[in-house]
Amino acid sequence: MELGITLRMPGRRGEKHQDQHAKAKEVLQQKLKDHNDKRAVLERYAVSDVAAVPDGEYVNLHKLTHPLGEQHLEHFAAIQSDMLFEQKIVGFALNQPLADSKSSKSHRTYLLMTPDMYLQSRGMLDVAQRLKADNYQNIYPLISTWEIIRAVHHNNAREISSSDSEQTSTQRRVRQLLLDAAKSGASDIHIEARENKAEVLLRIDGRRYKMGDISLATAEDYGSVLFNFESTDIARKGSWTKREIKDTNFDVWDDPTKKNKRLLTVRFHSTAIHPDKFQLVLRLLRPANVEGGFKRLSDVGYSDAQREQVERMLIGGSGLVVFVGPTNSGKSSSLQSCIQQLYENRGPNIKVCTIESPVEYEIPNACQMPATKDTFNELLEATLRQDPDVVMVGEIRESQAAKTVKNLVLAGHKILSSIHGYSAMAAFSRLEQLGVDIDLMTMPGFVSGFVYQRLLPIVCPECSLPLDLARAAGMINEGLFNRLTSVSDDKHNIRFINEGRYFINAENKLDTGCKCETCNGTGILGRTPIAEIIIPDEKLLGFIKKKDEAGARDYWLTTLGEKVEYGLGVSALSHAIQKMRQGLVDPRDVEHSIGMLRRDGF
Ligand SMILES: [Zn+2]
Repeated sequence: MELGITLRMPGRRGEKHQDQHAKAKEVLQQKLKDHNDKRAVLERYAVSDVAAVPDGEYVNLHKLTHPLGEQHLEHFAAIQSDMLFEQKIVGFALNQPLADSKSSKSHRTYLLMTPDMYLQSRGMLDVAQRLKADNYQNIYPLISTWEIIRAVHHNNAREISSSDSEQTSTQRRVRQLLLDAAKSGASDIHIEARENKAEVLLRIDGRRYKMGDISLATAEDYGSVLFNFESTDIARKGSWTKREIKDTNFDVWDDPTKKNKRLLTVRFHSTAIHPDKFQLVLRLLRPANVEGGFKRLSDVGYSDAQREQVERMLIGGSGLVVFVGPTNSGKSSSLQSCIQQLYENRGPNIKVCTIESPVEYEIPNACQMPATKDTFNELLEATLRQDPDVVMVGEIRESQAAKTVKNLVLAGHKILSSIHGYSAMAAFSRLEQLGVDIDLMTMPGFVSGFVYQRLLPIVCPECSLPLDLARAAGMINEGLFNRLTSVSDDKHNIRFINEGRYFINAENKLDTGCKCETCNGTGILGRTPIAEIIIPDEKLLGFIKKKDEAGARDYWLTTLGEKVEYGLGVSALSHAIQKMRQGLVDPRDVEHSIGMLRRDGF
């Protein structure tokens, strides 16, 4: 069947230009009309994925005698292909001979790729006309999407630039993405390949913001380039593929050849996602000398009472200090602040060894050992022979590590570490699960303390909404309103993040369309920790030993928290409610991250 349009248009020069142009346009329009009639058929031959773009040589539309503007390039691509003869693209594989050997190029077929919406546009005619003017013939339209068209252009650009002895354009773009993300304060970059494009998202202050879409081809290039990016990971194996789980670490340098100033360390992870797509997750770690790279214990955001408690845990030459929380709860940053505090308490001559995968923050004077999954336990055991005063274990993930940590504590070292968990009390059962005997753990002195923490967004004071306006804007339901009333008699200071959608105008009413300059329309100004701390005494350990978790919790909340007044409490929830009442965190974030607002639990 014939669906193709053979465009035979004259060059733009010459006296007959106008006439021929009009005629050509007429012919084209007739053909396009036919096309339209066969829409249902045509759609079967649309290109929905870059993988379906036939092999062939890309026609550099920049290099036409009359090159196209950038705007056009976004929407059209042309590839030279022999595929029509092989009938691989069925819809365009014609039964009629294509040979028209007046021109040397005419034995080739040119697929002019365009999004559906441009099929009948003036732009389509223009591109076809310019191709014709440069003696390309046998031009057929192939409906596709602009992402795919950009991918075709991009692949071509890559081929041109990969001959550069320096960085390829993809490397440059990847590097720029990393640096831009770091500059905007992002902790992570997520690239998620979907149906026919990939989304690029940044996590800033705990929330994800969409930065834009890239083509699937570009996303795959990013995966490959990032996996091999100036890699420092000697254990990295093989090349990147979207089908396997891949992990590596690499540094980003100010000058990649001289490597004298490190700007970032990146932890790369990728996995396949259903169906046949993939995701890339890049954790951005900043060196100590870079802004945002280091916080003193007093700047972390604990209450004064909490800071005192953390300092108390660090006293003594032995014992286990564990930070508990999910990913991205600031555990590593707090560990680093603790080690800094230990140096301040005990002088610079103590020996601190750390085993991390990878090293997240630089700690001056410490011996930081980067570990991989394979070397983690070996390095951890090696610290027993390194005569350390303090050992920091990035994270206890499995029983072998837990066992070594146990031996280190028993050998009389101060051990700092982190585990995943949902409360400070849960650290006991988590460690038990990892093989640390409960009798051992409840030995006085074994556990110096557990800190559970989460990070919640700080409400921008400029554009946040008070309760009545947030209610008017439909941002809170009755359930939340009732719970708020139950935990807070004075709701005057409570504030809600509105993500820059509304602002309060001169009449104290809600208005839209104005972007807050303080928070750049995000509604958020950084993050603050919500924490709970357990420094166990013998009685609490008694409850734990008897596996009486409720008793332990009750004792912890009422007796251990002696200095604590109502609502300025011990638990993470009460700490969150305290910050919520001050208008520092949004009640909805408290419920999402910590738990439902309720009066008990103080
Ligand atoms: Zn704001």
